[in-house]
Amino acid sequence: MSNVEQTLSIIKPDAVERNLENEIKEIFKNNGFIILEEKKIQIEKLEAEKFYKVHETKPFYNDLCAYLSSGPIVVMVLEKENAVLENRKLMGATNPKDAEEGTIRKKYGISIDKNSVHGSDSVENARIEIDFFFKD
Ligand code: UDP
Ligand code: MG
Repeated sequence: MSNVEQTLSIIKPDAVERNLENEIKEIFKNNGFIILEEKKIQIEKLEAEKFYKVHETKPFYNDLCAYLSSGPIVVMVLEKENAVLENRKLMGATNPKDAEEGTIRKKYGISIDKNSVHGSDSVENARIEIDFFFKD
């Protein structure tokens, strides 16, 4: 049975700032992801707060939202068989120090906050996050 899914990916400000956008997109494509939609935008802090609402009680919430809105980001809809889990695997652990060799965060992440990419953590959240950025 095939299980083609879509997931939301964000290339975060630290990576866009270092001009890693094309390199990271190539990694997704080389790993079988199709980029269905993409746009480069900069969001307001209030939008970042909405996007990361699940983390609103966490101590890092304010800094996280300030960071995500601090510069241009690239948001993409990625499609692949089991895209949500496959993207999480390709991204690696939240803290680049813990990320496995060959993952995007291992390769490009600077720190736990500047970890270069976001990826949806479930099919349900992927739908919500895709709508957040691409429903008009
Ligand atoms: N984050 C942080 N400090 C922490 C944990 C997370 O700054 O102690 C940031 C980090 O950028 C992470 C984001 O908050 O990517 C969302 O956290 P989550 O636990 O959802 O990690 P992810 O799903 O991105 O791996
Ligand atoms: Mg998460």
